[in-house]
Amino acid sequence: MPSFLLCHRHAPDECRFAFAAWHGFDSPLRHLQALSSCPSGGHALWWVVPAADPGAALAQLPAYVRQRTEAIPVSEVPIP
Ligand SMILES: [Zn+2]
Repeated sequence: MPSFLLCHRHAPDECRFAFAAWHGFDSPLRHLQALSSCPSGGHALWWVVPAADPGAALAQLPAYVRQRTEAIPVSEVPIP
């Protein structure tokens, strides 16, 4: 199964909407931890998710978040 890095960014005044959008949305990402720069003022969130394709990866996000997210195919590599 491929993996995708979901890179989401929102404006500071969109922050509360980016979190409220999850209410009532069914996703395997709900109630998990995510990396975020919101507390330090960067207003970005990142997830690494398994999915068949970029569309399936983005489908794990509610529409408001999805529209501000890029899905990048990634894999683990050894660092020399
Ligand atoms: Zn934020």
